[in-house]
Amino acid sequence: MNKIGKPVIGLEVHVELKTKSKMFCGCTADHFAKKPNTQTCPVCLGLPGALPVPNQQAIEWCVMLGKTLNCETLLFSKFDRKNYSYPDLPKGYQISQYDQPFCKKGWIEINGKKIGITRVHMEEDTGKLIHEGNSTLVDFNRSGVPLVEIVTDPDFDNAKDVKTYLQKLQQIVRYLEISDGDLEKGQMRLEPNISISGTKKPYKVEVKNINSFSFVDKAINYELKRQQEIIEKGETPAQETRGWEETAGITKTQRIKEEAQDYRYFPEPDIPPIRWTDEQLSKIKSQIPELPDEKFNRFKKKYGLNDYDSEILTRELESAEYFEEAVKIGKKGNLSPKQIANYIINRKVDTAEVLPAKVVENILQSKKIVQIDEKELNKVIEEVLKANEKAVSDFKKGKENAIMFLVGQVMRNFKEKVDASTVKASLLAKIK
Ligand code: ZN
Ligand code: MN
Repeated sequence: MNKIGKPVIGLEVHVELKTKSKMFCGCTADHFAKKPNTQTCPVCLGLPGALPVPNQQAIEWCVMLGKTLNCETLLFSKFDRKNYSYPDLPKGYQISQYDQPFCKKGWIEINGKKIGITRVHMEEDTGKLIHEGNSTLVDFNRSGVPLVEIVTDPDFDNAKDVKTYLQKLQQIVRYLEISDGDLEKGQMRLEPNISISGTKKPYKVEVKNINSFSFVDKAINYELKRQQEIIEKGETPAQETRGWEETAGITKTQRIKEEAQDYRYFPEPDIPPIRWTDEQLSKIKSQIPELPDEKFNRFKKKYGLNDYDSEILTRELESAEYFEEAVKIGKKGNLSPKQIANYIINRKVDTAEVLPAKVVENILQSKKIVQIDEKELNKVIEEVLKANEKAVSDFKKGKENAIMFLVGQVMRNFKEKVDASTVKASLLAKIK
């Protein structure tokens, strides 16, 4: 039996940018769930004579992402045509970048390991094919939407790290506010290429259709196992593109490619090359906000939070900003950041629904009741228990609902809103 080598996994991730307009025309870039072919023009339909005009915002965001991923920015860069024929590609070529991408040679740390970023480049999305019965329809609303492609070195050796990487990349593009990075909506699409080292003939299998975080490790682990079994038989897996089929939980051959496809790349003649000045680049760099890792460390240091609290609060930019807003307001009421963090996390506060000021108010109120009225609360509880002996005995016989009736009776005796869970706990203690 052959000795099985190590998994070798590299990743290509495409991220749709949320610019107002498309990459090379003025059409709206937000295409999700829109009526088909309502957001198109001669440029993104590839009609003869139409000329592309690059979207400056998209290019700057691409460079910003590259810098965030510790890449070098090339001072001279250009667009190229990637030629291939497919019904969702109206021009017969995709405007992309070949040998002079905006950014290259970066890295990111994942679970303590350094993963190399080969390149970060700018391109345009294709249209979308819709299969209906025996016919296939084409929707060009997505055609020409700005797409950033992030390619890693083949540095991953397990599915778990790949998943962490994707989550981190999603978190970064959301922090930069350049994309929502939603896998289910196709705003972030990944294509891992997977192989196992040490085979006689080198090969690579590309896996497509992984459109949810929950499929990432399933699909990769399935594919690794499939390849291992072939190698155990003394054979080499075929070089091919496979598709993940979620219902069956397997990958299936889409197309076999022995040789790398020849895209006949050549420089895009309709767009002049881009030359950056140091000033422009440092301006883009200065627009990079505080990133998740920095925020995580600052929250720990500045607010005295533990890893757990800090991680939860910085997972999303919105919750981090929400917490800091509540801390600012809570200062006047002498609330500590830790008290506020506990409340937000333990009560699972819906930050989209409840204002930070309300959170502070709730904490202050619950503190007031427990501190000031404990004696009075106990007095009221005794009166209520005496006046409602039937409910008490019902509860003792196992009628659980009776306790909520008693809680209500106690709360009626207070003008302010009393914390029901505190009342319930005191009641239970008294009854027992
Ligand atoms: Zn257009
Ligand atoms: Mn691409």
